[in-house]
Amino acid sequence: MPFTVLSQELETRAAQGLLRRRNVLESAQGAHVTADGQPYLSFCSNNYLGLASHPQLVAALQQGAQQWGVGAGASHLVSGHCAPHHQLETQLADFAGKPAALLFSSGYLANLGAVQALTGRGDAVFADKLNHASLNDAMLLSRAEVRRYRHNDMTHLAQLLAQARSGRKLVITDAVFSMDGDLAPLPQLLALCEQHDAWLLVDDAHGFGVLGEHGRGALFHNKAPLPPGEGLGWGHSPRIIYMATLGKAAGVAGAFVAAEQVVIDTLINHARSYVYTTASPPALSVALLQSLHLIRQGDGLRAHLRDLIERLRAGLAGLPWKLMPSDTAVQPLLVGDNKDAVALSAGLRARGIWVPAIRPPTVPQGTARLRISLSAAHSTDDVEQLIAALHDLAR
Ligand SMILES: *Cc1c(COP(=O)(O)O)cnc(C)c1O
Repeated sequence: MPFTVLSQELETRAAQGLLRRRNVLESAQGAHVTADGQPYLSFCSNNYLGLASHPQLVAALQQGAQQWGVGAGASHLVSGHCAPHHQLETQLADFAGKPAALLFSSGYLANLGAVQALTGRGDAVFADKLNHASLNDAMLLSRAEVRRYRHNDMTHLAQLLAQARSGRKLVITDAVFSMDGDLAPLPQLLALCEQHDAWLLVDDAHGFGVLGEHGRGALFHNKAPLPPGEGLGWGHSPRIIYMATLGKAAGVAGAFVAAEQVVIDTLINHARSYVYTTASPPALSVALLQSLHLIRQGDGLRAHLRDLIERLRAGLAGLPWKLMPSDTAVQPLLVGDNKDAVALSAGLRARGIWVPAIRPPTVPQGTARLRISLSAAHSTDDVEQLIAALHDLAR
């Protein structure tokens, strides 16, 4: 039995400070949680608007289960595509400013399905080196030629695009980089895609609900007002295939792709992670319709979140560890060494504060960090407590 090989691999990982373990959460997701029997002030969830345990979402889910039962019973193409799924897709398309949208059971599956359905042998996929693992896996699965460009380096991408031979071209990028919190230069990416006749797949897992007017996401972020008659703006380009997840700011589960109708029809026919899986419970879509309503009305939550981000950045100036340049809810504190990052995380844990240490291979070697995620569920006192604890640990 090859078990000794497995144990040796795990021991090597442990010796490098890379062994992963899970904590058991014993309360609902929120700013204050209980895990493994201890209370913590938590800075480690992607529940950016605090909706994951919102009473209106809980009520919607209960009502959805009353009306629709629990399981969808079949895949979307057989008999599992229910009215709440369909209604949610219509509303998501409208909210994302695209003609059509398609629901997936998770963001991981949405990325696998979209890249695999749109590209194949003979095509080329161009990907930022810091993209999320699901996009990396998706391009390998697609069997297209894979070209990775240096993080946000438009000159490098332009070179790679210029070298591409025949076939379809797809550029894929996180909108907000999940472990860095910085933004992709979407208008510049789109300009290159136009020049080289490529599609642009934007993964907005961390921007949807948070960025842009009414939380409409990265395509609506920092948009200069257009002069009259200038059309709809870059975010409406038919080249953009927009993907966002529904388990982060939206507080529920799942994901969607929004794009031109012909793209969505292609996914319905060819995306294997859509076709060959059971539809998500329709009650989740009922909860998501309510979530979308709260996101639209969530300007107050987003203003509070922005205030917390500014407080944290001001408060952490002068620490021995560098806060990475980010003005999103993802605020990474760069430590460098794996074991130092784990020790700093443990120091906070001992003070009742939960901030995860992120290590390779999730991030490049030598860039282990604490990933502080802020949420509108945090109070200013919560953030002040984190700031004080980090200053204390620095002494
Ligand atoms: C979380 C995440 C995903 C995966 O979404 P899930 O719904 O959790 O499967 C995809 N892309 C990015 C950038 C993410 O952060």
